Amino acid sequence: MMEFEERTIKIAIDTSKCPECESKACVEACKLYSRGILQLKDGIPSVSHLSPDEIKRQGTECLACEFQCWQNGQYAIRIEVPVKGLVDYTAKWRGR
Ligand code: SF4
Repeated sequence: MMEFEERTIKIAIDTSKCPECESKACVEACKLYSRGILQLKDGIPSVSHLSPDEIKRQGTECLACEFQCWQNGQYAIRIEVPVKGLVDYTAKWRGR
Protein backbone atom coordinates (compact mmCIF):
# COMPACT_ATOMS: atom_id res chain seq x y z
CA MET A 1 0.00 0.00 0.00
CA MET A 2 1.33 3.38 -0.99
CA GLU A 3 -0.09 6.44 0.75
CA PHE A 4 0.57 10.13 0.35
CA GLU A 5 -1.11 13.40 1.17
CA GLU A 6 -1.90 16.41 -0.91
CA ARG A 7 -3.01 19.65 0.72
CA THR A 8 -6.40 18.44 2.02
CA ILE A 9 -6.79 14.86 0.74
CA LYS A 10 -5.16 11.50 1.39
CA ILE A 11 -4.48 9.05 -1.45
CA ALA A 12 -4.00 5.31 -0.87
CA ILE A 13 -2.98 3.00 -3.71
CA ASP A 14 -3.06 -0.78 -3.33
CA THR A 15 0.02 -1.26 -5.49
CA SER A 16 -0.27 -5.06 -5.28
CA LYS A 17 -2.94 -4.72 -8.02
CA CYS A 18 -0.79 -2.58 -10.35
CA PRO A 19 1.61 -5.10 -11.97
CA GLU A 20 -1.32 -6.83 -13.72
CA CYS A 21 -2.92 -3.51 -14.77
CA GLU A 22 -2.41 -3.00 -18.49
CA SER A 23 -3.82 0.55 -18.74
CA LYS A 24 -1.78 2.36 -16.05
CA ALA A 25 -4.66 4.82 -16.45
CA CYS A 26 -3.87 6.66 -13.21
CA VAL A 27 -0.55 7.92 -14.53
CA GLU A 28 -2.02 9.03 -17.84
CA ALA A 29 -4.90 10.79 -16.04
CA CYS A 30 -2.45 12.57 -13.75
CA LYS A 31 -0.52 13.86 -16.78
CA LEU A 32 -3.68 14.86 -18.66
CA TYR A 33 -5.73 16.48 -15.90
CA SER A 34 -3.13 17.52 -13.33
CA ARG A 35 0.61 18.11 -13.13
CA GLY A 36 1.77 14.53 -13.58
CA ILE A 37 2.94 13.91 -10.03
CA LEU A 38 2.18 10.19 -10.42
CA GLN A 39 4.92 8.53 -12.43
CA LEU A 40 5.60 4.90 -13.22
CA LYS A 41 8.50 3.34 -11.35
CA ASP A 42 9.13 -0.34 -12.13
CA GLY A 43 5.60 -0.60 -13.52
CA ILE A 44 3.95 0.84 -10.41
CA PRO A 45 2.63 4.39 -9.87
CA SER A 46 4.91 6.34 -7.58
CA VAL A 47 5.53 9.78 -6.11
CA SER A 48 8.91 8.81 -4.69
CA HIS A 49 10.65 11.33 -6.97
CA LEU A 50 8.99 14.14 -4.95
CA SER A 51 9.30 15.25 -1.33
CA PRO A 52 6.13 15.48 0.80
CA ASP A 53 6.25 19.28 0.42
CA GLU A 54 6.58 19.02 -3.36
CA ILE A 55 3.59 16.66 -3.50
CA LYS A 56 1.46 19.14 -1.54
CA ARG A 57 2.65 22.06 -3.68
CA GLN A 58 2.21 20.35 -7.05
CA GLY A 59 -0.86 18.19 -6.38
CA THR A 60 -4.11 19.72 -7.61
CA GLU A 61 -6.48 17.32 -5.81
CA CYS A 62 -8.29 16.66 -9.09
CA LEU A 63 -9.25 13.03 -8.21
CA ALA A 64 -8.67 11.96 -11.85
CA CYS A 65 -6.38 9.06 -10.87
CA GLU A 66 -9.07 7.50 -8.70
CA PHE A 67 -11.77 7.87 -11.34
CA GLN A 68 -9.59 6.44 -14.11
CA CYS A 69 -8.41 3.55 -11.94
CA TRP A 70 -12.04 2.65 -11.22
CA GLN A 71 -12.98 2.95 -14.91
CA ASN A 72 -9.94 1.43 -16.60
CA GLY A 73 -7.65 0.03 -13.92
CA GLN A 74 -7.96 -2.47 -11.10
CA TYR A 75 -9.97 -0.43 -8.54
CA ALA A 76 -6.79 0.13 -6.52
CA ILE A 77 -7.07 3.81 -5.54
CA ARG A 78 -9.00 5.22 -2.62
CA ILE A 79 -8.99 8.95 -1.89
CA GLU A 80 -10.19 10.34 1.40
CA VAL A 81 -11.64 13.85 1.19
CA PRO A 82 -12.39 15.06 4.70
CA VAL A 83 -15.08 17.70 4.94
CA LYS A 84 -14.70 19.69 8.14
CA GLY A 85 -17.94 19.78 10.13
CA LEU A 86 -19.74 17.18 7.97
CA VAL A 87 -20.23 14.66 10.79
CA ASP A 88 -21.77 17.28 13.09
CA TYR A 89 -23.87 18.63 10.24
CA THR A 90 -25.34 15.25 9.26
CA ALA A 91 -25.94 14.34 12.92
CA LYS A 92 -27.87 17.56 13.35
CA TRP A 93 -30.13 16.78 10.39
CA ARG A 94 -30.63 13.13 11.37
CA GLY A 95 -31.85 14.29 14.78
CA ARG A 96 -34.72 16.26 13.25
S1 SF4 B 1 -4.78 2.49 -12.86
FE1 SF4 B 1 -5.03 1.62 -10.78
S2 SF4 B 1 -4.40 -0.52 -10.96
FE2 SF4 B 1 -3.64 0.58 -12.79
S3 SF4 B 1 -1.53 1.17 -12.26
FE3 SF4 B 1 -2.89 2.89 -11.70
S4 SF4 B 1 -3.42 2.53 -9.53
FE4 SF4 B 1 -2.59 0.62 -10.33
